[in-house]
Amino acid sequence: MTSVVDQRRVASPPLRAAQAPPAQPGGRPAQANPAAVLVAIWSGAAAAVALWFLNTPSVSGFGDWLTSAGRITGLLAGYSVAVLVALMARIAPLERGVGSDRLARWHSMGGRYTVSLIVAHALLITWGYAVSAHTNVVHQEWTLLRSYPDVLMATVAALLFVGVGISSMRAARRKLRYETWYYLHFYTYLAIALSFAHQFANGAEFMNSVGARVFWAGLYIVVAALVIWYRVLVPIDGALHHQLRVHSIIRETPDTVSVILRGRHLRELQAEPGQFFRFRFLAKGLWWTAHPYSLSASVTDSLMRITVKGLGDHSSRLAGLAPGTRVVAEGPFGSFTPGRRRRRQVLLIAAETIARTRRARLHIIVGTRSELGFDPLSAQALASLPNLADHDVYLCGPALMQAEVTQALRTLGVHRRRIHSESYEF
Ligand SMILES: Cc1cc2nc3c(=O)[nH]c(=O)nc-3n(C[C@H](O)[C@H](O)[C@H](O)COP(=O)(O)OP(=O)(O)OC[C@H]3O[C@@H](n4cnc5c(N)ncnc54)[C@H](O)[C@@H]3O)c2cc1C
Repeated sequence: MTSVVDQRRVASPPLRAAQAPPAQPGGRPAQANPAAVLVAIWSGAAAAVALWFLNTPSVSGFGDWLTSAGRITGLLAGYSVAVLVALMARIAPLERGVGSDRLARWHSMGGRYTVSLIVAHALLITWGYAVSAHTNVVHQEWTLLRSYPDVLMATVAALLFVGVGISSMRAARRKLRYETWYYLHFYTYLAIALSFAHQFANGAEFMNSVGARVFWAGLYIVVAALVIWYRVLVPIDGALHHQLRVHSIIRETPDTVSVILRGRHLRELQAEPGQFFRFRFLAKGLWWTAHPYSLSASVTDSLMRITVKGLGDHSSRLAGLAPGTRVVAEGPFGSFTPGRRRRRQVLLIAAETIARTRRARLHIIVGTRSELGFDPLSAQALASLPNLADHDVYLCGPALMQAEVTQALRTLGVHRRRIHSESYEF
């Protein structure tokens, strides 16, 4: 094993360096296969289009074609909204098997398609109805809003979806605080509620088929149940069961602290090295938001540790936490675990004391690139590591560093599938 460490040595923790957790009586927790999840998602999309096909004996004339395209985009939009919510429901097997950052990427890419489908649906339906009724689109839109059941609510919903989409665009994201962007996303729940009724009231597929209504309502009910289960009930149950509290704070560097948490039955969590929890510290100014931090030591039955660099208001305030503060930890999440490994040799970029205890070859790099006078993670520098192409590489750090190092590793012949990374930015 080879480790490249890019931070100052951390103080010895009262916990062991990260190791795989001992096997639990129930075996390994369930993990979804990413390829199988994608197949399931695309199959659902095909089923949504099949609803249109089964309810459309024939398509004749330009207006009909436009309306059909509007119905298909509407069905796909209604379906993908449910999928987007499910991807973010923190469903444990998905989080473990697919990984939180990949789920977030799918969600963000799917979000762009969904907003496009919603806009296309509104335009195509209005245009198609206008062509069939031999009127103009403005008049047709006015008729739809005034005379068709629940279309006004659906239009408000569409505007909310578009607004959330705009707030998630890179340029807007950079200007918004993370919390502002996050809470704006809650408007999607309102938008889903507002848009649901118009699907059954106006969708030809649903008006004529009880089976289609049951299938569609079932989809939304299952997703709602998953959200309530995984985002509300599981964290509450975990908090009551594990009774986590801050045990102590260890200052590691001027801007980094380790937070040791004490609780009960923590081994039952089956947390693996490389995973993270979303921590809600029930202290003044912190209780209302949960932030993700990775484990920095193996979890014992009564202790867990995170190591946090103060970057903003939440992370900087952890240094001042009083021992005894109650903590709600949701997780474990993430698939950045030893389970991804394919080769015997491992290169860890950004590790800690593990290297010493596991007798790994250790390269300590302290300082910025300008302080060092060279880039220790460039292709040229990494090329000096023996048998690099035969390693699995676990890479952790800011997005730009990950992109640059991944590029360097690929240049040096490390296969894409053996470069494992997890983003710190959702
Ligand atoms: C999977 C994962 C594991 C992480 N592990 C660690 C770790 O072990 N140690 C560590 O020091 N940092 C870790 N981070 C980063 C840490 O979560 C952020 O630095 C912290 O949340 C910043 O919050 P802030 O209010 O202090 O700063 P802010 O200035 O408010 O936020 C800085 C950036 O952090 C991110 N962020 C802020 N709030 C959240 C949130 N609630 N959820 C997700 N991202 C948020 C956003 O990208 C934001 O732009 C991890 C992040 C992720 C996604």
